Amino acid sequence: MQQLIEGVHKFRTAEFGNYRKLFRKLSQEGQNPHTLFITCSDSRVLAELITQSKPGDLFVVKNIGNIVPTASARGDTNSTAAAIEFAVVNLHVSDIVICGHSQCGAIAAMLADHAVGDATPHLRDWLKVAAPVLETLKRAYGHLEDPHARETAAAQENVLYALDNLHSYPCVQERLGNGTLRLHGWFFRIATAELFAYDPETRQFSPLVNG
Ligand SMILES: [Zn+2]
Repeated sequence: MQQLIEGVHKFRTAEFGNYRKLFRKLSQEGQNPHTLFITCSDSRVLAELITQSKPGDLFVVKNIGNIVPTASARGDTNSTAAAIEFAVVNLHVSDIVICGHSQCGAIAAMLADHAVGDATPHLRDWLKVAAPVLETLKRAYGHLEDPHARETAAAQENVLYALDNLHSYPCVQERLGNGTLRLHGWFFRIATAELFAYDPETRQFSPLVNG
């Protein structure tokens, strides 16, 4: 906690001056973020840092494993659905990014049998939402024996599954239909802080930027 308090002090004394006008403007005019950014709760994946975004730019949803439930999901799985509806219907974001990442604990838990025990029933149920990713892995990646390659494939397929599920939301379908919304699948490699974007034509994740 001391680290957090020191951080708040540093922000107030050293950083806030650069943001004073922006925060006042955002307070007066409200938020108008251009992108809904759905990524993992993992402490190493910082949406604003890796995209150099400012306050007001991104509407961020962080959940375990950057999972997107289908529109029909209810109960424990509905907070991400609520955020999607709010961002698309109320905030009129123009883009949705699903950003998975390397070394994802959620993906590792999904791949390992019995990794999620009885002490974490919500976590167990939440990861089941992305169970179809495991089916895809069995079907299309049976040849992969290297555990790291399997993890990467699962994390990237999980991004594609989340993109698929976005299509199940009527509000997303409507905005896609009138050409006012774009969907993006990204993958963040922690060791090098590189971002890769899914290209539906090549069906590959390719570097988002060069260098
Ligand atoms: Zn993760």
